[in-house]
Amino acid sequence: MKFFKIAVYVLFALSFANLAGSLYMYNGIMNKTHNINVSLPADVMQMPENCKLRDSQIFQAILMTHHKIGIHEPGATEFCPTCQGAMKIVDNINKGL
Ligand SMILES: [Zn+2]
Repeated sequence: MKFFKIAVYVLFALSFANLAGSLYMYNGIMNKTHNINVSLPADVMQMPENCKLRDSQIFQAILMTHHKIGIHEPGATEFCPTCQGAMKIVDNINKGL
């Protein structure tokens, strides 16, 4: 019985030390003076726009191939650069549409 009594004290002390350590870590993390600010390079910040541009170019290439082999009628597809004039989608992306 004495063993279990000591075990309870040891477990209580360990849990209390764990709680104190957690509070110390919480205060350390929430302290605004120690935050690390990482500035991203400009290339990474422009990545979503570049991805949109790449996807649009792939989409236009597919539509131009469809136009060339006759899958769609001329003027039937809104985004086909051969039907509408070159690079309309790219211009829309550059305008932010
Ligand atoms: Zn077309």
